[in-house]
Amino acid sequence: MSEPLLSIRNLKKYFPVRRFLLAKDYVKAVDGVSFDIYEGEMFGVVGESGCGKTTLGRTVLLLTPPTAGEIYYRGEDVLKYDNKKMIEFRRKTQIVFQDPYSSLDPRQTIFDVIIEGPRYHGIDVGDPEEFVISLLRKVGLEEYHLYRYPHEFSGGQKQRIAIARALAMNPEFVVFDEPTSALDVSVQASILNMIKQLQKELGLTGMFISHDLAVVKFMSQRIGVMYVGKIVEIGDSDELFKEQLHPYTRALFSSIPIPNPQKTRLRKKIIIRGEPPSPIHLPKGCRFYPRCPYAMPICKVEEPDLIEINANRHVACWLYR
Ligand code: SF4
Repeated sequence: MSEPLLSIRNLKKYFPVRRFLLAKDYVKAVDGVSFDIYEGEMFGVVGESGCGKTTLGRTVLLLTPPTAGEIYYRGEDVLKYDNKKMIEFRRKTQIVFQDPYSSLDPRQTIFDVIIEGPRYHGIDVGDPEEFVISLLRKVGLEEYHLYRYPHEFSGGQKQRIAIARALAMNPEFVVFDEPTSALDVSVQASILNMIKQLQKELGLTGMFISHDLAVVKFMSQRIGVMYVGKIVEIGDSDELFKEQLHPYTRALFSSIPIPNPQKTRLRKKIIIRGEPPSPIHLPKGCRFYPRCPYAMPICKVEEPDLIEINANRHVACWLYR
């Protein structure tokens, strides 16, 4: 495997919430996450709504400052960057947000939306109109869309514009934060195919966040499964779909619908009891233990680290120690 482009170590993002008077609690949205993303790969992050996926994506790009932990980009500590290096990091790393309706300024034409970033960073793009037209064509739009406003486009077209805006910066790393979940099912497939094609063509490295397991499998070479602020399992996409090690991953994957009704009867759906714990008041030990059918005494006292099972699999569970 190539060198990691991005390495995250024990990353935490806590949001303070006031309890009473001066006392504060913290929502532990991301709570000690570590993983590597290798050059040219798409790393999927999957988990239920509210598990911290989006916060993780934003914290990795420093759109929100981390509470603790380290972020290395090409081996350099991003948190120690000076201004010049930070501006370059901002150019090289981009994000496509979930909601294309609110991520585009309604007062800007598409030309302005796309050219704004390169202009700000002083990137030489040659003829600006030609540059933007070539990007629009890359994402399946046309020259006549150039001076239209966002409200003149459908949701799928808006997301194509948002992707063109990210590509205009010639990025090395892109976070796709549920880029199709706000779109009609009929256009989701075409946007996903386009992202996949662009990733291949441009050799992009990325992080693909979704709650949809089938979508993450289609888009990613490796997948990290997140549960209440923690990554509990990381594996090669195909292997993870064949066999899940962590009890939470098993339950999550057992809920994937099978199109063949004959096979549906053969698969046993695992029902997890209870609700996920509050990210403010996490249980001591493994945060999955109140719901885990395999919980052992140690699970209630000590939190398991993410350990390597083999080159393609990491899991955080006492069952594998
Ligand atoms: Fe279950 Fe214990 Fe593994 Fe947590 S560490 S998932 S409680 S077996």
